[in-house]
Amino acid sequence: MKPNIVMVIVDGLRPKDLSLYGYSYETDKNIKKIASESIVFRKNFSAANASDVSLTAVFSGQYPKTNGFIHQTPNTGKEEIEKLSRNKFWLPLHLQNMGYNTISLTPQYMWFKKGFDYYINKEIRGSGKYLNIPLIKSVLLKLPNWVYKLGKKIVKVRASPPFFFSRDIIDSAILKIDKIEKPFFLFMHFVDTHCPYAGVKPKKINGKNTIQKILLGIEYSQQKEYIKKRFYDSSTNNLEQIKQKLDDSIIYTDKQIGRLYNFLKKRRLWKNTIFLILSDHGDNFGEHKIYFCRGGLYDSSIHTPLIMYLPGIKHKIISEITSSVDIAPTILEFLKEEEIKVDGKSLLPLIKKGEKIRNKVVVVDGFFKNRTAVRTETKKIIISDGEKCYLCGAQHGMGREEYDLEKDPEELRNLYFKE
Ligand SMILES: [Zn+2]
Repeated sequence: MKPNIVMVIVDGLRPKDLSLYGYSYETDKNIKKIASESIVFRKNFSAANASDVSLTAVFSGQYPKTNGFIHQTPNTGKEEIEKLSRNKFWLPLHLQNMGYNTISLTPQYMWFKKGFDYYINKEIRGSGKYLNIPLIKSVLLKLPNWVYKLGKKIVKVRASPPFFFSRDIIDSAILKIDKIEKPFFLFMHFVDTHCPYAGVKPKKINGKNTIQKILLGIEYSQQKEYIKKRFYDSSTNNLEQIKQKLDDSIIYTDKQIGRLYNFLKKRRLWKNTIFLILSDHGDNFGEHKIYFCRGGLYDSSIHTPLIMYLPGIKHKIISEITSSVDIAPTILEFLKEEEIKVDGKSLLPLIKKGEKIRNKVVVVDGFFKNRTAVRTETKKIIISDGEKCYLCGAQHGMGREEYDLEKDPEELRNLYFKE
């Protein structure tokens, strides 16, 4: 019997916020337990800093520039969708054709329905607290802070995109797994860890990095409004409070992942299930003066956790550089499928024999007209051509950047212009 496959995407989850990767606070009790039986990749990078682009790369096994889909919705060009539609390989479809029961429990994404037998959107009700009317939003943001706050209270609108709590997604997954025929492919995307961290309440923390202080250091007016909105939406007024909300949302999500793990063990499914935990991209909490935006291609935006449980393969920590485009070829080789011709490479030779798979990864900025990074173990080059981040309106870098990651892991000294 072929193994079941579970893929868990935790939105915006950064390795540096997990004790598994060195964070001083334990946000990840259950993830750590799973990791102790799995392969832990320490240097994995997403193929983009934006959800749709990054997940498309995971499912296609191709870098965005190969599959065509480069810019995050709503900045995707028609020609990008057209090119993507000509793309040959799509993991869910491939698994479906192999006889897998394919289930997607994720907020609605247009083309992410392809290859799934079952797709939620109705039975789990959204309960988010975003403002979703662009006009009202843009008017309110131009007003003084107190008017914005008041306006938000008055205008009660539904969540956009629909917000699903990971607890409800796991409830639904457990019901589904019990009913369906095996093997199954279960894909889940948790957004509890995305600003405004709707599932957790802010604690009273008098942090030093207040909203006023942060705004003083920001030069772009659009970015100022963006930051302000993120603070208000998350009902916080200092960075320390937001960071605490993030930590609590990770703890909450980790608990839900633990519930699924315990369920699979109890049903004796665990030992025949490939289990993956990863994120679609990183996030920024002041790194490079970026706040609550994944724009830019610094490691904080693109370094992602990757934990892979492969039945029969013992726990191992891998420090070589890997890309999320490698996931699909790895799964297929593990399932003894014919090799597919994609940018991604199977990681099995690296896992089993320590063979070097790649010496670089390529990453694109889904929020910028044209920005690409090439990252090796020790160096990064970023080339960009455009004006500002589609998400927050800041620049997030220069036209040409080069970093020595051994000497300068924070990417603060651009070597490109040095003689
Ligand atoms: Zn940005």
